[in-house]
Amino acid sequence: MTIKVVIAGFKGKMGSTAVDMVKSDDQLELAGLLDPFATEKEIDGVPVFTVKEALVGFEADVWVDFTMPKVAYGNTRFALENGFAPVVGTTGFTEEQIAELKALSSEKQLGGLIAPNFAIGAILLMEFATKASKYFPDLEIIELHHDKKKDAPSGTAIKTAELIREARAFKKQGAEDEEELITGARGAEFNGFRIHSVRLPGLVAHQEVIFGAQGEGLTLRHDSYDRSSFMSGVNLGIKEVVKRKELVYGLENLLS
Ligand code: NAP
Repeated sequence: MTIKVVIAGFKGKMGSTAVDMVKSDDQLELAGLLDPFATEKEIDGVPVFTVKEALVGFEADVWVDFTMPKVAYGNTRFALENGFAPVVGTTGFTEEQIAELKALSSEKQLGGLIAPNFAIGAILLMEFATKASKYFPDLEIIELHHDKKKDAPSGTAIKTAELIREARAFKKQGAEDEEELITGARGAEFNGFRIHSVRLPGLVAHQEVIFGAQGEGLTLRHDSYDRSSFMSGVNLGIKEVVKRKELVYGLENLLS
């Protein structure tokens, strides 16, 4: 039986890459497409929608979302309320929103995934950084993305910071009398450590976690050079959420 997939944000950089991935997999069927500025009524027989409400009652199993931070929460709620298991790559969710969506998925007995990063290397970077933070509590996160990215810091940086918060004994870094001569020079403060966001044309998605200790340093880095790096994770997410009855936050929760 094929899994019927709707892709929201199908005209975007990630959404269009996800369309190609779904089309290339015999176990998946591209059932519907959503983008507010689409002018087509259908593409190769696949219906195109411009508002999510038009999908009430639509027959599909999974809702893939690569849209924009300001609409992703509403889209994910809508998917759960209408029987589509969400696989969401859009970033910018608050912790409260994720908790609400988890509760809604349990109530609806529907699987789902919100993954700030679908690349396996990024998942491993988060795991290694979390482990290292127990031994190296002094650290800084530097995330680097293309200059069209709307949210900062990245969802991956926030997720990394949240995982580190769980593992690392709290420590406020930097000198007591440290002074920013230009506002923002030390980056965003999260649980005593700093997150820096770099935006440049030519970049895709990259992250470093730099650890410093007495007389030694450790740098962990992951690079997504191409958006295809995310697609095996999206594919896995689609195939896993249909088997599950609750939404998880982070692809690592679906890896065995
Ligand atoms: P993008 O190229 O700007 O694509 C976003 C698309 O969503 C655009 O085509 C946009 O249409 C459309 N859109 C806007 N509002 C919508 C709505 N209400 N319903 C449906 N579609 C809507 O951005 P991108 O680079 O593909 O990134 C999309 C998201 O994925 C971002 O949040 C990014 O951070 C995230 N991302 C996640 C991962 C991961 O591994 N989880 C990896 C890379 C990126 P218009 O342009 O016509 O407004």
